[in-house]
Amino acid sequence: MSCYLCGSSEFKYRDGEVRDNKELKIKECQECSLVYLSDFSHVDEGFYEDSNMHKSFDLARWNKETDADDKRRYEFTRELIKNKEILDFGSGNGGYLNYASKKAKSISALELETAISEQYKEYGIELFRDIKDLVKKYDVITMFHVMEHLPNPKEMIKQLSSNLKEGGKIIIEVPNSDDALLTLYESESFSKFTYWSCHLFLFNEKTLQELVHQCALKVDYIKHIQRYPLSNHLYWLSKDKPAGHQKWGKFLDSDALSDAYENSLASLGKTDTLIAQISKI
Ligand SMILES: [Zn+2]
Repeated sequence: MSCYLCGSSEFKYRDGEVRDNKELKIKECQECSLVYLSDFSHVDEGFYEDSNMHKSFDLARWNKETDADDKRRYEFTRELIKNKEILDFGSGNGGYLNYASKKAKSISALELETAISEQYKEYGIELFRDIKDLVKKYDVITMFHVMEHLPNPKEMIKQLSSNLKEGGKIIIEVPNSDDALLTLYESESFSKFTYWSCHLFLFNEKTLQELVHQCALKVDYIKHIQRYPLSNHLYWLSKDKPAGHQKWGKFLDSDALSDAYENSLASLGKTDTLIAQISKI
């Protein structure tokens, strides 16, 4: 398999393991630095429709887990979506849209997972199952942690951009392949924890920019975001385990420290998360 972005067949294997499938390897293109799994055949039609991503399905727990991200995304987009018609692609449990409904003119969702239909009814969110079912154009289309799951992300971005109004924006959030725990601190335990069979591609600032460019669209900006605070990183390096922010965050993390740490990592391009705003040329 040659590189999806640049066509090069030169790659190196990254250290680490895919936590739920030890047969998969993690490749990094030597030409453009795109990170991708050695095989995609485990992702086929229907893969995302039936709780594959959320095997032990517990909606209350899922809502609790995503609430901090839902709020952060709402704060990030609140001015952009004011009185606008928005679509969230891969909307999960609908937590972001539930917040967004306070500001937006209308909210719609596109989600394959079938177990969440009831919650969408409760929130009053219009839910689509297939991109082909979309009947109108939107001011803002959001994709939070979706792109890395798609076997052909360019095709999806192109299709979505055809559902964008003139002057409309697409917001894409993805995990950063240059995450400091992988490429700066080189945590062995984290590299055996973070890779997942559902994440077919991982992008950094450069490869995300190139992906959008190849869709004949324009990147307005790419912002570096650090979702996990310093306590989480220290815990990985000290204890080789996740969730350090829940153990040490109370006495270690503050808004000032988290902002400063985010800025330091951003200056290196090594935050854990990237957000891009995209528009038509
Ligand atoms: Zn490449």
